[in-house]
Amino acid sequence: MDNNDLTPRLEPGLYIVATPIGNLGDMTIRGAETLRRCDAVACEDTRVTGKLMAHLGIKKPLLRYDDHASDRDRARLLAAMRAGALALVSDAGTPLISDPGYRLVREAQAEGIAVTTLPGACAAIAGLTLSGLPNDRFLFAGFLPVKEKARLDALTGLAAIDATLIFYETGPRLVKSLDAIGSALPERDIAVARELTKLHEECRRGSAGELSAYYNAHPPKGEIVLLVGPPGESEASAEDVESLLREAMESVKPSQAAALVAKATGRDRKELYALAMKLRGQ
Ligand code: SAM
Repeated sequence: MDNNDLTPRLEPGLYIVATPIGNLGDMTIRGAETLRRCDAVACEDTRVTGKLMAHLGIKKPLLRYDDHASDRDRARLLAAMRAGALALVSDAGTPLISDPGYRLVREAQAEGIAVTTLPGACAAIAGLTLSGLPNDRFLFAGFLPVKEKARLDALTGLAAIDATLIFYETGPRLVKSLDAIGSALPERDIAVARELTKLHEECRRGSAGELSAYYNAHPPKGEIVLLVGPPGESEASAEDVESLLREAMESVKPSQAAALVAKATGRDRKELYALAMKLRGQ
């Protein structure tokens, strides 16, 4: 008999439990307690979850629930959550976020089964907080399509969205995605957040071209969140500003040129006017 047998059981239902995305210290107290007190755990890969359970010193029946789950698999899990407390975890992070579980939650709710969530680590949110990109509005878009045209179409479809875009990415595909972003979403600030919460955590910011060149030379290992700043956020360089002003002054007065360029770049109009006068004097 292990200690778990003395732990009070939870009410029947489904418990969505977030797990760490690398650093086991990020397992929440409430999440661990739920795994300790539930009757069974539905998981993507029993070996992966088995390791987490062993780390926590918990033994429970592990029921497989992955992307290939059939209606019969779901019916079995719905029966388990009617009879007892079923925890749902994914390999890492928050279940349902680019992970299985959405249909299970819907079907449980439709049957009047109690569903509760125990939040915790999520790579998208961890990446956003580390990116240094605006976070007042963001859109999580999961993984980009693998095929080139579909990837470009997906990015073009997101071009007008005034928010930071968050994608999940893999090392081998990162450079291709950066190149596609460079052509579909030019002039954006990009961040690559890699190996979050792990020993080699890093976050690099730059233009799509700069990051593509860097990762071409240093093929990235590990797990990646790719973030694209909102339109109009990246600051035009001094040379860009000068050439915009020169171009505008070919057809309008310096004051109007300064106003136009200020609107386009977000730079200060008075400073631009001073620069315009200097350029005119050259
Ligand atoms: N449900 C998970 C979550 O809440 O983050 C995400 C699952 S999704 C199948 C796996 C993807 O999440 C990886 O390919 C990577 O893009 C991202 N990811 C997971 N862990 C990460 C980490 N430690 N650092 C950076 N990205 C990570």
